Amino acid sequence: MHQFAVLRLALPTPLRRLFDYLPPESMSVAEALSVPPGVRVLVPFGRRGLLVGVLVEVACETPVAHDKLKAATQVLDALPILSAASLQLCEWTANYYQHALGEVIQAALPVKLRKGEPAATQVAVWEHKTEGKGLGITALKRSPKQQAIHQFLLANQQLKPSEIASLGLSVSALKCLAEKGLVTKRLLAPRPSTPSTPRHGAVLRESPQQPNDEQAAALAAIRYHEFNPYLLEGVTGSGKTEVYLHAIGRTLQAGRQALVLVPEIGLAPQTLARFARRFCVPIAELHSSVSEGERAKNWLAAANGEARIVIGTRLSLFTPLPELGIIVVDEEHDSSFKQNDGLRYSARDLAIVRARLAQVPLLLGSATPSLETLHNALSGRYQHLHLVQRAGDAQPPSIRLLDMRLERVEAGLAQTSLDAVEACLLRGEQAMVFINRRGFAPALLCHHCGWSANCRRCDARLTLHATPYHLHCHHCDAQAAVPKTCPGCHSHSLAPIGQGTERAEALLSSRLPNATILRVDQDSMQRKTAMAELQQQIHSGAPCLLVGTQMLAKGHHFPRVTLVVIVDADQGLLSGDFRGPERMGQLITQVAGRAGRETLAGEVLLQTYRPDHPLLQRLVHEGYANFSRQILAERQAVNLPPYWAMAVLRAESKQPQQALDFLREALEQARLIAPPSPHLQYLGPIPALMEKRNEVYRYQLQLKSHTKPQLQQLLKPLIEYLESHPPARSCRWSLDVDPQEFN
Ligand code: ADP
Ligand code: ZN
Ligand code: ZN
Repeated sequence: MHQFAVLRLALPTPLRRLFDYLPPESMSVAEALSVPPGVRVLVPFGRRGLLVGVLVEVACETPVAHDKLKAATQVLDALPILSAASLQLCEWTANYYQHALGEVIQAALPVKLRKGEPAATQVAVWEHKTEGKGLGITALKRSPKQQAIHQFLLANQQLKPSEIASLGLSVSALKCLAEKGLVTKRLLAPRPSTPSTPRHGAVLRESPQQPNDEQAAALAAIRYHEFNPYLLEGVTGSGKTEVYLHAIGRTLQAGRQALVLVPEIGLAPQTLARFARRFCVPIAELHSSVSEGERAKNWLAAANGEARIVIGTRLSLFTPLPELGIIVVDEEHDSSFKQNDGLRYSARDLAIVRARLAQVPLLLGSATPSLETLHNALSGRYQHLHLVQRAGDAQPPSIRLLDMRLERVEAGLAQTSLDAVEACLLRGEQAMVFINRRGFAPALLCHHCGWSANCRRCDARLTLHATPYHLHCHHCDAQAAVPKTCPGCHSHSLAPIGQGTERAEALLSSRLPNATILRVDQDSMQRKTAMAELQQQIHSGAPCLLVGTQMLAKGHHFPRVTLVVIVDADQGLLSGDFRGPERMGQLITQVAGRAGRETLAGEVLLQTYRPDHPLLQRLVHEGYANFSRQILAERQAVNLPPYWAMAVLRAESKQPQQALDFLREALEQARLIAPPSPHLQYLGPIPALMEKRNEVYRYQLQLKSHTKPQLQQLLKPLIEYLESHPPARSCRWSLDVDPQEFN
């Protein structure tokens, strides 16, 4: 028999280590040894007061001096809140992204559970302590409220918190009894997870579409009881979702659960409705517009097997699913799968890890696969499934480049575009104008002296907004009044330059006074119900014109949209980010995919000042599939991802010096750990694409290696070193493995 037990915990701190605590004083060594990993434990943590940690293991020894060990305050769960599989995924994540396990777990848990709130499946009851049991029925006469509770417990043994009010008992009296040591609260083990829904019964609510030949071939390729990643590359409207639904149907019928990851922004409600129409099993939603309470509830429903399908954005990746049978990542190229602060992880990449740990198939679907995924498919690591035809009768849209140098242009819109919009609405159809900027104009400039309205806190221009009329920084949220005269030369020569959605909307409504125009951007969609209202209006089928940002580019299904105008089609060619052309190709293809989804034919107009650019030409004439293979070859030629692995070490400080010093020291250390070679390159410190943001100077060190394992071998000791040699207080740093942005 062991004399001693320590609880080894992951705590929500940035320190990359576990913390040892003695069991709570009321707990015997034997009891402590049987506490299962994955339960939450409340512990004192210096000045931060009480923290909620998660038990990783119970050990019989500790390197900590015994008189330094503190006792845990309370074990919060009777059964693990994170299964062994979930803990394993968290550990993998912590290792790969060089992040503290405690913070990974923190990110994985819904907020309510992070805070130590009881897991809903666990029931707490009030009971007598031994002293309380010994009291006679007439004790506590001086306090009738306490006596009522005492008598109830003598007769019933247990009191559920939910009964207190209905029995007319008093909470404060209960607390007094607890303080006197007469009663205590005890957690009951949750009911064993008995998946209540039919494991082999009916899962379908409606009969599915008969798969066409391409869909049938894709479905036949999927093997269900082993790990295999599949890239389902299918043009928009080719029936990818239908393939997911079939594969999920099979998984459900086999008594297993499905995890479906979807991008952020408006997509989830639509997808959810389609799943709910198809399946009669409980579906749990997990995304940012689900309330915290609901999120914890859905998470637990998935964890105990009640929910058979989980649909959510990246944060649902970690949801425990004891009977996981398939993972689907829809629109796998979407940038919202990457988290760009705190724990910088890619839910798409972790979905692969999760599928491998669980030995289940993973379906990655997209019309415009990321180059990372495409590379994996082309090199044979993923199985490549194709849908090249649109399902049903829909035809692919015709795409035309509009040479802006030859066009009459007003507020950024070509005359040809305006005419096409007008004709489309007259035919009784719907049109979309896509501009990747919100606000009225991205700059306010003086034509006389060249002054421009800049943000004082950022290296950025202020955006002019029309309603309300003001200047706004989209990077730090600073706001300013619009000057009446030029602050530089006092002339009246200030003019808005470029166009945003508001300006396009204004021009279009003056040109088409009878048209219904709907603006779709972050500003107009702020109300929670705005997106749903918009969709209703669009689905009514009445002619209307949508003017919006990339919110329009996501996978909506708008059957009556037959014309799409893309205002600045060539923006991505100018980007300082090596992913600029890739994103341009994805965006244009996705937006174009909104046109002519059903029986009506679609047309896409691309406004550009570089109609001859080879990449644009290739995209328009040969399609994304061809275009993406071309830029993939270019990446290979210059040692960029996905051929090379990359990480970025970022530092920022109020003065440039501290951040630069820190990165220089990091570089020196990196060189000591692994000298640069043809297979390992260091670049920096260099300024971020936006060097100053919100009064902070930002720099980065890029670390590139031929292989991921080689990069990992460098990162681990480097981060350990940096953690033990922290920079000056005014400097903050972070590591981004597989970075997606450089601004
Ligand atoms: P994607 O996800 O590739 O954009 P969807 O699955 O949403 O494509 O399918 C596009 C449209 O085609 C939808 O209206 C869908 O109901 C329809 N569809 C898909 N597969 C079939 C099929 N096999 N037979 C008939 N219609 C189909
Ligand atoms: Zn001026
Ligand atoms: Zn700013």
